[in-house]
Amino acid sequence: MSETSVKTHAGSCHCGAVAYEVDVGLDGLVECNCSHCYRKGFVLAFAPRSAFRLTKGEGEMTSYFFNQHKIDHRFCKTCGVQPFGYGVGPDGAEVAAINIRTLTDIEPWTWTAQRVDGRSF
Ligand SMILES: [Zn+2]
Repeated sequence: MSETSVKTHAGSCHCGAVAYEVDVGLDGLVECNCSHCYRKGFVLAFAPRSAFRLTKGEGEMTSYFFNQHKIDHRFCKTCGVQPFGYGVGPDGAEVAAINIRTLTDIEPWTWTAQRVDGRSF
């Protein structure tokens, strides 16, 4: 992910109960085939936790944990959309994993993502 492409983006769940802003670049997007990402169709961008701002809906979300419980997958209690998750990177730094399909300020299909074989990890 190149630093030069980092921009502020806005996103939300489907019903609008949960909204956020994040400073993130949209190159280096990842589509993963693990049991969770694949089911939900995620296209992910990763940002430092400090670059992520929840603007609405802290009380409107539920958390989903599985496997090693390292990632706090947040989804809207009302519409079920999962806009993001909180996790910890390999270097121990807190990150936000953004489901870029929930960004409201980019056109669909204007992005490309690398397929990552998460299933084999
Ligand atoms: Zn919602």
